[in-house]
Amino acid sequence: CGIVGYIGTQQAAPLLLEGLTRLEHRGYDSAGIAVVGGGTAGALRIAKKAGRVRGLQADLPKRFTGKVGIGHTRWATHGPANDVNAHPHTNATHDVAVVHNGIIDNAAALRHRLADEGVELVSDTDTEVLAHLVGLSTADTLERRVSEALALVEGTYGLAVVHADFPDRIVVARNGSPLIIGVGEKEMHVASDLAALVRYTTTVAHLEDGEIATLTATGFTTYRTDLSHTSRPATTLDLDL
Ligand code: GLU
Repeated sequence: CGIVGYIGTQQAAPLLLEGLTRLEHRGYDSAGIAVVGGGTAGALRIAKKAGRVRGLQADLPKRFTGKVGIGHTRWATHGPANDVNAHPHTNATHDVAVVHNGIIDNAAALRHRLADEGVELVSDTDTEVLAHLVGLSTADTLERRVSEALALVEGTYGLAVVHADFPDRIVVARNGSPLIIGVGEKEMHVASDLAALVRYTTTVAHLEDGEIATLTATGFTTYRTDLSHTSRPATTLDLDL
């Protein structure tokens, strides 16, 4: 239902929670965030919960630190609204976190295939397969791992991925579900809705269907799903705020 992401010089968690609160008007049944970095370099932490952002905020562990993170508000399509089905989803070794808007049409087939390979799925969601597929890839870059996973997937998505082994970036992808990149001062934002961005920046780039993008603290790069580069310059919105 709603996606936010932040990478930069500030603590990510408060910004992600603030962004998710701005998406609340869309309605949802659970909320969650993941951050990488923080105290232990590369560590990935996930907090998620059925209910409103307020509840998640109240229960957030004290040292939920890190300057890279993603967040989600869920509108359930696969599986009930509970804590386990809330996003972000992760793999067995907790290296990858994925938030996803949309529907993976071949999720049932992919769940079977993963189960056959000995992967234990913990949620009822279609989204969880994405986390395992990215986690299973041994490609040298996170972009390649996401691209390999997406090659197996049919359906619609706006998604954002962070990975403990690649703590300097967020990889996002769009197919049928909006994603907007917001360019800040030594920081980058991403969201599924302008409402979550305009407080921080009005310099934005709209990802197109079939595109992947990498966000680092200093900029962004866009690709097709085969990782050939695309040109997606950011433009400054003329908003009367
Ligand atoms: N299909 C996913 C789920 O049910 C994502 C739903 C959404 O767009 O929030 O978890």
